[in-house]
Amino acid sequence: MSHKIAVLPGDGIGPEIIEQALRVLGALGMDLDLRSAPVGGAAFDAHEHPLPPATLELARNSAAILFGAVGDWKYDALPREFRPEQAILGLRKALGLFANLRPAILYPQLANASSLKPEVVSGLNILIVRELTGDIYFGQPRGVRDIEDGPFKGERQGFDTMHYAESEVRRIAHVGFQAARKRGKKLCSVDKANVLETSQFWRDIMITVAREYPDVELSHMYVDNAAMQLVRAPKAFDVIVTGNLFGDILSDEAAMLTGSIGMLPSASLNASNQGLYEPSHGSAPDIAGQNIANPLATILSAAMLLRYSLNEAGQADRIETAVQAVLEQGLRTADIHEDGTTRVSTSEMGDAVLKALK
Ligand code: NAD
Repeated sequence: MSHKIAVLPGDGIGPEIIEQALRVLGALGMDLDLRSAPVGGAAFDAHEHPLPPATLELARNSAAILFGAVGDWKYDALPREFRPEQAILGLRKALGLFANLRPAILYPQLANASSLKPEVVSGLNILIVRELTGDIYFGQPRGVRDIEDGPFKGERQGFDTMHYAESEVRRIAHVGFQAARKRGKKLCSVDKANVLETSQFWRDIMITVAREYPDVELSHMYVDNAAMQLVRAPKAFDVIVTGNLFGDILSDEAAMLTGSIGMLPSASLNASNQGLYEPSHGSAPDIAGQNIANPLATILSAAMLLRYSLNEAGQADRIETAVQAVLEQGLRTADIHEDGTTRVSTSEMGDAVLKALK
């Protein structure tokens, strides 16, 4: 059976990096039905909307979406609903993509790219599972109100609401445990249960769900400590599961441990493992069209797509091994280039991955 995949290149370097990922997917010898559609600023230019109905329809009817990047300064003056970034929010909402998976991997060959000592980060391989559709980012009520009593009476006050429903915590817990089961079997749930009711509730549910995964070791950590441990001894983590707010911050911190944003893939999944796969970086308009962007984050996103949405772990392994091999050969795009390595273009990096696959 052919797997239907929506390909949404987007803006900036999006089309260049997606092109390389498509070459890699094409070389696997699989029966893939790949269909492209415009998204982001490119879609606004063509159809006056960042997520046109035909693009959304294609995404809905696909097993997975391979996404480049969206955004460019030239769209900054548009009303919010027409900005390129709205396409990602629209896809998340329409497809119910509640689980964000971001691996932070530091290949030993790139250990010097990190701002931390090589011995602390070399060989790092952690996965952050972030809840994506709940928490204080979406909680109601929110807004600005007049304070009617207490020490700040008469002033205005900004406020938001943090909450998590039991089913929201359960489903992200399952994603975390299942991911840990496929890796090192260690899951660390990050919260702020010493201060927040929402976090204590989160922790209680995690403990309940853990009974279904006796083979996975569950631990808990307060978010302030997790932020410290990520720079002190990041290799002690295997999988981290956390809420939307804490995950937003910790996943960026973990990404920076690797020092190379051009290397990091990500996935956003729903309950039926339909997913959106994209590099963790943006559309890099400053280098677009120059054939110098690093395509590896996008190529590795395609590998995640095979692993998580198509259940093709063997094919995913093939791509990841090929990426390791080109790094081993000393090939580097400009963003990760250092003395003693060979600088290659976007398309040459694609060529090298293809060659390593064979
Ligand atoms: P960015 O990630 O696009 O770029 C940050 C820096 O990293 C730039 O110097 C860029 O050249 C470099 N960079 C990024 N990816 C690279 C790659 N693959 N190879 C080599 N260098 C790379 O972030 P930004 O500059 O803050 O944002 C640019 C645009 O991207 C904005 O419009 C923003 O809204 C958008 N954006 C989109 C997404 C997304 O599509 N998911 C995510 C973040 C930012």
